[in-house]
Amino acid sequence: MTTSDQLLGWVREFARQVTEHRDELTALDSAIGDADHGINMARGMGAVVEALEANPPATAGAAFKQVGMTLVSKVGGASGPLYGTLFLRFGTAAGEVTELDPAGFAKAFRAGLEGVVARGRPEAGDKTMYDALAPALDALDEALAGGGSLGDALRAASAAADAGRDATIPMLARKGRASYLGERSVGHQDPGATSAALLVAAAAATLG
Ligand code: ADP
Ligand code: MG
Repeated sequence: MTTSDQLLGWVREFARQVTEHRDELTALDSAIGDADHGINMARGMGAVVEALEANPPATAGAAFKQVGMTLVSKVGGASGPLYGTLFLRFGTAAGEVTELDPAGFAKAFRAGLEGVVARGRPEAGDKTMYDALAPALDALDEALAGGGSLGDALRAASAAADAGRDATIPMLARKGRASYLGERSVGHQDPGATSAALLVAAAAATLG
């Protein structure tokens, strides 16, 4: 079982990682976007951590809804509403509980990805965060179905997210700002897929 406190440890670790990688995320976005992805994510996740400290939520559902609302309200651009929706849907799917079993965790994360799809309409190969998250969640489900522990499943998911992130390099962007570049988006790693791989890596580091 994963407790709400452990789940919040995941959120704090994601905040730490996007802050550590802020300049790298922004440099990736300067190549195919408007050079704000690291700034957006570090500011947004900083606000999330402050809000969690100021107003500690009682359940996983309440916590993730608060995380999502903070991102939606504090982060402009594409990534605020997209990550905000991911966490909001995670919270709704998790429900007013203080523990999640591995299947419940995977189900909530899947609901979060479905929220990203509902909001941004990304498809596989569009060169977005979806290209890191979708293979990660498939790997998570597969490892859990095979009887693996949550830790093993998250390590498999993190490897799949990293591979999905790397696979965005040759892709032609079909969503978001990078799509305005057409062929010139080819050859660059997607910033959102890079932060999404950090989200999965943070889960493997804290919930494994
Ligand atoms: P903006 O593009 O508004 O400046 P960010 O730079 O913070 O926002 O985030 C850009 C990232 O958002 C992209 O690298 C991509 O992964 C993701 N993204 C953009 N549009 C979409 C979309 N429609 N669906 C999924 N992800 C998207
Ligand atoms: Mg940007």
